[in-house]
Amino acid sequence: MSQTQREDGIGQVPVTRILGVNVSKLDMAGTVKVLERAVASGKPHQVITANPIMIMAALESEENMRAMREAELIVPDGAGVVWAAEELGDPVAERVAGFDLLHELMKRGEQLGWTAYLLGAAEEVVQEAASRLQKQYPKVRIAGVRNGYFGEAENAEIIGNIRQANPDLLFVARDAKTQEPWIARHKHELGAAVIMGVGGSFDVISGKTKRAPVFMQKMRLEWFYRLAKEPSRLPRMMALPRFMQKIKKVKKSVK
Ligand code: UDP
Repeated sequence: MSQTQREDGIGQVPVTRILGVNVSKLDMAGTVKVLERAVASGKPHQVITANPIMIMAALESEENMRAMREAELIVPDGAGVVWAAEELGDPVAERVAGFDLLHELMKRGEQLGWTAYLLGAAEEVVQEAASRLQKQYPKVRIAGVRNGYFGEAENAEIIGNIRQANPDLLFVARDAKTQEPWIARHKHELGAAVIMGVGGSFDVISGKTKRAPVFMQKMRLEWFYRLAKEPSRLPRMMALPRFMQKIKKVKKSVK
């Protein structure tokens, strides 16, 4: 499978194509470097941390696919995405999990004096996540915090507040279905340079939920851990076998 490149004001990023979605092949260090350029540019960059559920959602919803097409950077967050790239013969360097990328960006922000805004999750969760992040990364100024339970009517006020705070990093923690389309629709009004959907990350940072143990992450079983903890995730997880089937089919057709 051929390697394509894209240019977005952040330099060239090597990508691998998975079911029509261009996923970055950069490792974590390379990803942080690219996003450092994004912050320096001051222009909006939507970072999507792709997993199989999100790619399947993009195949099923035009709005989700548009968000993927227009995203400045898509990183391989899910073990299933890393597997698919291998299977299709154009592997990525490594898994770049959104949770880890958030921390790496905060670390870099410490050195460069960045500001961050947290949008999403329940009120007490986002407050606690902000206070823990502020303790861990005291040189990154948390420029604002807002819970993720709002509708269209509150959009203008929320966007106005973020714009005024003028953060370098905007982390958005909402459910996978609304998170990416919302960022895609509003990224040019938000005034943030790096805007990244981080799903359940604030829940983990606040201590409300736990991430899978490292051995399970290494065995590519983080999805299984989340399913075991939250069986209500099962219907969403059904996207996984469908994703794998599709990859196998593409692999057969290019042989
Ligand atoms: N969330 C939110 N607003 C919503 C729905 C969800 O802020 O309208 C938050 C939720 O509190 C959690 C995060 O989004 O912190 C991820 O939620 P969930 O795990 O249900 O989403 P998934 O990533 O599995 O789609």
